[in-house]
Amino acid sequence: MAKLLEGKPIAEKIKEEVKLKAAELKSRGITPKLVAVQVGENQASAVYLRSQQKVCVNTGVDYQLLTLPESISQADLAAEINRLNSDSSVSGIIVQMPMPAQIDGRAIQALIAPAKDVEGINPTSLGLLVLAKPLFTPCTAAGVMELLKTTGEKLYGKEVVVVGHSEIVGKPLALLLLAEFATVTVCHIATGQRGNLPEHVKRAEILVVAVGKAGLVKGEWVKEGAIVIDVGINRVGDKLVGDVEFDEAEKRAAWITPVPGGVGPLTVAMLVRNTVVAAEKT
Ligand code: NAD
Repeated sequence: MAKLLEGKPIAEKIKEEVKLKAAELKSRGITPKLVAVQVGENQASAVYLRSQQKVCVNTGVDYQLLTLPESISQADLAAEINRLNSDSSVSGIIVQMPMPAQIDGRAIQALIAPAKDVEGINPTSLGLLVLAKPLFTPCTAAGVMELLKTTGEKLYGKEVVVVGHSEIVGKPLALLLLAEFATVTVCHIATGQRGNLPEHVKRAEILVVAVGKAGLVKGEWVKEGAIVIDVGINRVGDKLVGDVEFDEAEKRAAWITPVPGGVGPLTVAMLVRNTVVAAEKT
């Protein structure tokens, strides 16, 4: 039976460190501040925004939610980002996705000054990640690495299979794993459509799934003794579940993350950690 790889205690430890760092910065006259930019109101992001705010308040990081009109133009939104870039009281900026149709969200994210890109998602941040010299690492991918670290398992040469190749999770995670010399296979929609997912999953010593489809990965595909990190969050009835069939996978894996309570708590912890790091540098 697998050991549970819980994110909460690790996230709490990180938040305690952030709190100490924020207090120390304040004693030097620096107040870390995170600004979240949202265009219009979006139900899907409301939960994430509330949890950002709560964690910031609890760790002594100032938080501002800047809600701009749904009808804002690309140029006006760009001007807002440039204003935040040059505001020395702002340490970190995040732009909440999705954006309304008239906005090119990627182009907006690309305008965030690299020193304030605490989500690590603009082209400069991702480029530095390719060079294994990240300024800021995308928060969820960094959270997965923290979870792996707590297992004590060495990544060097390990067979790691990442299912999902999004810009915010799968791709940056693959780069972080490569920097540790893991042997990384990245699976995605085409792998699934060709029916090749089981064969890849079956040989994974470390399996990370970030797709957003409940039950996509069958428990019986999981290799005996594997580490299973389930990033997926899916609502099934009134429950939240991951992408991996937990009950069956738990019987075979050595470690497995619960959903909720696995990767989730780490994402916001990484965001505030990046914000105090950004504050110290500005
Ligand atoms: P995304 O929608 O941007 O990407 C989904 C990925 O899954 C793509 O690479 C796609 O090719 C792949 N995919 C789709 N169907 C597949 C199939 N049948 N077989 C194999 N691959 C398939 O997703 P995302 O933004 O990376 O999020 C993925 C999941 O992780 C979602 O459930 C999201 O809610 C969750 N998530 C959780 C956190 C957290 O903090 N815990 C953070 C980010 C995302």
